[in-house]
Amino acid sequence: MAKVFEQYELWWVTGAQLLYGGDAVVKVDSHSKEMVEGLNAGGNIPVKIVYKGTANSSKEVEQVMLAANNDPKCAGIITWMHTFSPAKMWIKGLQQLQKPLLHFHTQYNAEIPWGEIDMDFMNLNQSAHGDIEFGHVCTRMRIARKVVCGYWKEAKVQKQIAVWARVAAGVADAHDVRCLMFGMNMNNVSVTDGDRVEFEQRMGYHVDYYPVSSLMEYYKKVSDADTDALIEEYKKLYTIKIDETGEKVYWEKVRNAARAEIALRRVLKDKGATAFTTNFDDLGDVDVDAPDFCGFDQIPGLACQRLMEEGIGFGAEGYWKTACLCRTLWVISQGLPKGCSFLEDYTLNFAGDRSSCLQSHMLEVCPMIAVDKPKLEVHFLGIGIRKQPTARLVFTSKTGPGIKATVVDLGNRFRLISQEVECIEPRPMPKLPVASALWIPQPTFEIGAAAWILAGGTHHSAFSYDIDEEYWEDFAEMTGIEYVRINRQTDIAGFKQTLRNNEVYYMLNKALK
Ligand code: MN
Repeated sequence: MAKVFEQYELWWVTGAQLLYGGDAVVKVDSHSKEMVEGLNAGGNIPVKIVYKGTANSSKEVEQVMLAANNDPKCAGIITWMHTFSPAKMWIKGLQQLQKPLLHFHTQYNAEIPWGEIDMDFMNLNQSAHGDIEFGHVCTRMRIARKVVCGYWKEAKVQKQIAVWARVAAGVADAHDVRCLMFGMNMNNVSVTDGDRVEFEQRMGYHVDYYPVSSLMEYYKKVSDADTDALIEEYKKLYTIKIDETGEKVYWEKVRNAARAEIALRRVLKDKGATAFTTNFDDLGDVDVDAPDFCGFDQIPGLACQRLMEEGIGFGAEGYWKTACLCRTLWVISQGLPKGCSFLEDYTLNFAGDRSSCLQSHMLEVCPMIAVDKPKLEVHFLGIGIRKQPTARLVFTSKTGPGIKATVVDLGNRFRLISQEVECIEPRPMPKLPVASALWIPQPTFEIGAAAWILAGGTHHSAFSYDIDEEYWEDFAEMTGIEYVRINRQTDIAGFKQTLRNNEVYYMLNKALK
């Protein structure tokens, strides 16, 4: 169980009532305990489920919901109606509930005991009846939730709960995310901007400007010993590749990149931040020849790459929404094999039905997605305020299916957009010394890219090989934001209609509640 999941738990509440007598409730209780233990032991669900007993009345339901709200460890509630649970008794509790809800429609026994079944058995094992009653009230009240149906011992059912559990942990974590913007978003860029107050209100992320001059105070104080130690770590982790700059410049630049990393780490730690953005025109003092110059001598790309790998969300050019989303994606994906990264749509490759888009950034791609050991290289970078040789990790990325996602601010709401992509192997690019990935947007470049553009998508995204639409759907449901998906089934006419329908839905949504 990954460490990040250990700080959370999911509460299991079983719905019942006293109509069938105390013995029935005792039975309900023991079945529930066994099921919770079984789910925890199954090894599929990475967040621990805690059994919170049966709820047999409106008061009991309300109490457990209020307790869930007040316990920061509780990332969500799983409900299951063992017997018939008249759902009006859930109204007041559901009105209070502020945590994600999963409604699990299952049953203790797999098969009907054909030879033994009697009225007592049928009254006791009544989730087919009780869960539907509960579902009606949730729908009547417009309660966002995930509904999982199936036998609780089956791995595919447990995996659906696992998706929700991972996302619930990500949403709980988002509530505590502080994102530091070193500098602002880049001049004149629309998509990186938006309403940070609304962002915190909806999704929990707290985004703060942090002055680069204060970051420079940290930079000044980084000791040689700490820098040397970090360079030794680089030598162990990466292939050292010295090219046109020669050894002297190479090590000077790697050294300053290491100092920048240490400074950034310290600020993030001191401020309790788990996401950040940079701005390539705001790197400290402008005049490098001034006698008391203090500034980064290069874009801190290497630091961004390495911090991302440790779960610090990153967004380039002041892109706070993607930085926060990358943090959440990292939390959700803990322990999954192939990795995730911040990426940017850079250059198109037209090749018939294999047309693709090269993903990269100036430097900042997470080494988690590298196909093999990254090379630590120093090359001239002519973008931004420092046109300098700059350290970076260079690699190509794994192949296979993946999904990119972004959040955009539409003025009256946030929209989460996801898109399935197929990552393919690029041809050698010996003159392009940056990390990259190459993908075909699904269902084809032409349809996929058009849908992304129509949805108002961004050129920066949070990418993963390991998760799929189900995760993002759960995320949007929990945070109450719009979700549109682009996948192998997307057609433009239908997609446009979805966007139009959603426009109306989100206008009316508040009125319905
Ligand atoms: Mn960019």
